[in-house]
Amino acid sequence: MLHITVDGQPRECAPGTLLEALDALGVTVPALCNDPRLAPVGACRTCIVEVEGCGRPVAACTTPLTEGMVVHTRTPLVEAQRRVLLRLLASEYPAEAMTRQPDKPFHRALREYGLEGELRGAHRPSLRDDSHPYIHVDMSQCIHCYRCVRICDEVQGQFVWRVWNRGAGTRILPDGPNLRESSCVSCGACVDTCPTGALEDRTLLDQGGPERWTRTTCPYCGVGCEMDVGTRGERIVTVRPSREGPSNQGHLCSKGRYAFGFGASPDRITVPLLRENGGWRRASWDEALGFIAQRLRNLRAVHGPDAVGMLGSARATNEDNYLAQKLARVVLGTNNVDCCARVCHAPSAAALKRMLGTGAATNSFEDIEHARTLLVAGSNTTECHPVVGARLKQAVLRGAKLIVIDSRRTELARYADVHLQPRAGTDMPLLNALAHVVVTEDLCDRAFLRERVEAVDDFRAFIAAWTPERAAELCGVDAAAIRQAARLYATHGPSMMVHGLGMTEHVQGTESVMALINLALLTGNLGGPGTGVNPMRGQNNVQGSAHMGCEPGHLTGYVPLEANRARFEAAWGAPVPVAPGLDLMGMMDAARQGRLKALWAFGYDVLLTNPEARATHEALERLELLVVQDLFLNETARAHGDVFLPACTSFEKDGTFMNGERRVQRVRRALPPAGESLPDWEILCRAARALGHSEGFAFQSPEEIWEEVRRVWPAGAGLSYARLEMRGLQWPCPDEAHPGTRLLHTHLFASGSRAALRRVDYRPSPEVRTDDHPFVLMTGRRLYQFNAGTMTLRTPHALLQPGDWLDMAPADAERLGLEDGARVRVCSRHGAVVLPMRRAEGLRPGELFTTFHTAEVFINAVIGPHRDGYTHTPDYKVTAVRVERAGKSPTASGGPTERSAPPATPGGRGTAE
Ligand code: SF4
Repeated sequence: MLHITVDGQPRECAPGTLLEALDALGVTVPALCNDPRLAPVGACRTCIVEVEGCGRPVAACTTPLTEGMVVHTRTPLVEAQRRVLLRLLASEYPAEAMTRQPDKPFHRALREYGLEGELRGAHRPSLRDDSHPYIHVDMSQCIHCYRCVRICDEVQGQFVWRVWNRGAGTRILPDGPNLRESSCVSCGACVDTCPTGALEDRTLLDQGGPERWTRTTCPYCGVGCEMDVGTRGERIVTVRPSREGPSNQGHLCSKGRYAFGFGASPDRITVPLLRENGGWRRASWDEALGFIAQRLRNLRAVHGPDAVGMLGSARATNEDNYLAQKLARVVLGTNNVDCCARVCHAPSAAALKRMLGTGAATNSFEDIEHARTLLVAGSNTTECHPVVGARLKQAVLRGAKLIVIDSRRTELARYADVHLQPRAGTDMPLLNALAHVVVTEDLCDRAFLRERVEAVDDFRAFIAAWTPERAAELCGVDAAAIRQAARLYATHGPSMMVHGLGMTEHVQGTESVMALINLALLTGNLGGPGTGVNPMRGQNNVQGSAHMGCEPGHLTGYVPLEANRARFEAAWGAPVPVAPGLDLMGMMDAARQGRLKALWAFGYDVLLTNPEARATHEALERLELLVVQDLFLNETARAHGDVFLPACTSFEKDGTFMNGERRVQRVRRALPPAGESLPDWEILCRAARALGHSEGFAFQSPEEIWEEVRRVWPAGAGLSYARLEMRGLQWPCPDEAHPGTRLLHTHLFASGSRAALRRVDYRPSPEVRTDDHPFVLMTGRRLYQFNAGTMTLRTPHALLQPGDWLDMAPADAERLGLEDGARVRVCSRHGAVVLPMRRAEGLRPGELFTTFHTAEVFINAVIGPHRDGYTHTPDYKVTAVRVERAGKSPTASGGPTERSAPPATPGGRGTAE
């Protein structure tokens, strides 16, 4: 600590800049061009202070703190100079902005110095841009602090805002004809930093500033960004990034920042519904839960407990998911419990658990800043996990090396030192060839192999055959590029891997992750800062939902069921079923075969999301009871639901989420539940009681549930709400004195002192291209869309990226005579859909990409039955298809039909935001 004197008071401060010290001490001075997220520039000079011995005022933001410094922040000289600077800025600023907009730092400074009467600027229509659905631009209010330009460059790495012209003619403009048509990714960072309101959230202008702020965790992806939700009455009017958020460090992406309006959508269902005579009718909670209890009792009595299944949700809290699996096991008496991790990262968890002993990311997002080489495999991070994507870009801009493995030339691939672009479905040969180069060129970390790795000789013998030339033939990647990537990863460490669903949603998904782990083991890139194998979790609580036990073979803490049954029976005071459970895909098979009679699904649109839509439709059709617990009548409910239970959004309840780096973070209620909706945990408690199980389900709050989770999960025992209240913590965290664990496997693997290399050979996809089906289709998500469109489709994000469309390589489009926007029929061996196409750079000829966002297209009608051998995760990335120009009818041929139309928004709660 340094000792300084501020305005006559002796103070102690951590090293840093003088402005940081003043902030930490609570001494305020105006600082209009400063933002702690940005490098200080000292441009506006409103933060000037006098420092004894300096001779003239200095900008506090660019002055380093030194021992013994004597600082005066309010001398007549600095006050006079500040007033002159502010008066100059005020002379161009429109007076009405002071009253029209919520308070801004510039407004506060003007008021403090009594300059409100000197505002002589005017709003100039030519400087206004209303093109963007979320961001209002009025550069009449710009004071040229360049914070928008700098935050776009230094945090988001998008370089949208440009400075044009000089002197009085200086203008800040986007890199397109307007903001909407620029390269803006709508992260809102420029709005967040703008001190004058030149850039502003439209919701704030339309609805007024927030009356309350609530800190919570983003409801979208597994980055787990911490955010402050601003509410006015019973509406969210803005969301801002939390500066203290460990995974986002004061940043958000467009979804976290702006896609918050779905909960107020007019088609939100806020009362329980029962299917009757082909339609829906409103029911009370008691009636709906009584009906479910009666039906479940009957079905279990006739068909046994394993005729029932439960699906937890990666969009629900840990507490919700813990109760879902407990209800399945203790009340319904079945291990048929799973969650949507099955269709995304189950292979990551399985591979990491098998090889290293812990089914979770080995490192943390902050390791991106410690890595010298980053290997991004099958992850379009800048679109799917944009805040981490931005961190990756910034790391590369600072000098880190980047290797990208992706069948498409993604945005990150453009930053890469090496982009390996394998044919879809050929990751295994490529990963084995990388290992071959590491082994044969003696690039292994010998000490690490000697001390911590087993089966080395066996692996050497296996990998010898996987030459880059052999892989090159299979995956279409230049052998020299494979060698270059292997050398870079192995020799320019520490090297960190980040992987996504491009690795896992394959018939060899688990083995692909095992091959990544092989590379990390061979090169010693495990257990240290800037290393590791790190799955980018797709939804906010994918890690948590499975970890809480929504997994047929694992109990809370992702511990094997068999070995831990007795412990849980003792904790729960109830038997845990012995019969192995079915996973999500197994439940679909069993339902189709008539073995599964009832399914309870919450926070997951099974029909729209699962592959083989026709088979899913048949499975759901055969169920005798389907309970859907959600915000909306999703496609599953519309077509097949028998009971609809209205749940709360995460903005309407308390609890915790677990992000992709094992961090448990608080979810806090910012709004009251809409209508009669209830938090999932409360619905499940009431349901258990309706089924005659009061004991074990008498929870009054999520914290009480979490206390039970801590008792049954030793690695989470230290994660009390009181601690989480202050900051999210990463497990393992075995006691309340433990600081949490940023790095796994530092000295030992959770599986023991040594980890074994795995031989993983290549099994080609059964989806073979033929003359009849000459293309390969991959599916995934895009920047403004979040999986099945339950949430983002009900926000203005639907304007930014409307619907699903097919990306096709320009050469293919030309060959087929297709122009952008042409409607095409995509036919696989499993079904057909119709959607518009668009030429897209970055695809190999013969390969296609689209999303599964809308029921209008229902792309899963064409996806086939192939699954990962270990986890049954569907192969969404390789489907052989043909493409032909469609007729005028927009009807898709493969999508399921509606059993009956829902009534007009029963219980809907009004207007959209
Ligand atoms: Fe939310 Fe993920 Fe975006 Fe962060 S990166 S704001 S967690 S969607």
